[in-house]
Amino acid sequence: MEIKKDIGIHKPTTGKRQYRNFPMVPRVIFGRGSFDQLGDILMPKRRHSEAPFIFLVDDVFEGKALSTRIPIIFNDQVIFISADEEPKTAQVDALVHKIKSEFNELPSGIVGIGGGTLLDLAKAVAILLTNKGSSSDYQGWDLVDKPSVYHVGVPTISGTGAEVSRTTVLLGPEKKLGINSDHTTFDQVVLDPDLTKGVSKEQWFYTGMDCYIHCIESLNGTYLNAFSQSYGEKALELCKKVYLDELSPAESRDQLMMASWHGGMSIAYSQVGVAHAMSYGLSYLLGVKHGIGNCMVFQHLKEFYPEGVRLFNKMKQKHQVHLPSGICSGLTESDYESMIGISLGMVPLWENALGPDWRSIATPEKLRSIYGRI
Ligand code: NAD
Ligand code: ZN
Repeated sequence: MEIKKDIGIHKPTTGKRQYRNFPMVPRVIFGRGSFDQLGDILMPKRRHSEAPFIFLVDDVFEGKALSTRIPIIFNDQVIFISADEEPKTAQVDALVHKIKSEFNELPSGIVGIGGGTLLDLAKAVAILLTNKGSSSDYQGWDLVDKPSVYHVGVPTISGTGAEVSRTTVLLGPEKKLGINSDHTTFDQVVLDPDLTKGVSKEQWFYTGMDCYIHCIESLNGTYLNAFSQSYGEKALELCKKVYLDELSPAESRDQLMMASWHGGMSIAYSQVGVAHAMSYGLSYLLGVKHGIGNCMVFQHLKEFYPEGVRLFNKMKQKHQVHLPSGICSGLTESDYESMIGISLGMVPLWENALGPDWRSIATPEKLRSIYGRI
């Protein structure tokens, strides 16, 4: 398995610094109840009545009020999908096959409604509808050559930053790796904080902490620059408000949605760090999901992020969130070795976190001791 991440600044190859030229989401609507404008937003993007919109929706909304508000007309289709497992390349390929075999025409667009899982699925399906082969062929950097179909992201839980990022993280046959490309980024995002109302307290904490950890890892990284810092500081300030101050529930939903946006922007031009590198190991071996996995690792990273971990524990305590413990206790030494191998393979994350000499600090023994405590 191979895991890599994108870095904003490429190392000079010709003596001249090469900076990445990133796309951003070109259109965004923000506001409580803004979801009800989705029909109007999609209307001008409908090529004709034979070219449907396909709505990929978290199945937590099946039979719920939100599903009756999805603006379906003509032959549009709603596909409910479980977010119990993180997106897989085979799942993306199957969805693309289903859409292509049911319609004679390419859809007018794909709309993803849900958390990071559904947003990533929508991005990947939009790409694979216009690019041949399997989604696993495109895991990596800038391998997508044709523009995707129009795609819209509607987050219903805040924290991952998947709504702004130029990647879609997929578990493939050989690797867990994103499709990082200019065609991945959404064409439109609908930020309606009211959609996050039904999220459980635990999930709200885990996914929100993904944003908090993005900020800590970006702001304390060696790749930090003014671009990332400006977004990271804002996101961190908003996370602190949400998790430590006394906001009304509505204010809290507004602020966390914007924290996620800024947190995602912050890592575009920098990189995540130790918690993400180690949580990928847990995810690969044990199927631990991104948000909770980051939390399970981060609580043990005091030596790398002392202030960040102190505040994390304060937030965890305030909201009475209990993380599972002892999940690595039954593992064999060869399990540990494979987690450590996966984690240490994420070179840019370690380099961002600890600098060019990271290997002397992040030794296999050090990782073994941290994993052993999880
Ligand atoms: P998720 O999409 O996996 O959802 C978590 C849980 O919350 C699910 O059970 C889901 O059904 C539920 N849920 C979502 N909205 C809800 C609502 N309004 N009410 C009730 N329940 C609701 O969670 P996530 O943490 O947002 O996403 C994790 C995924 O995001 C991972 O697959 C990870 O790889 C990916 N990710 C992607 C990026 C990126 O830049 N593309 C960045 C970080 C993480
Ligand atoms: Zn993350």
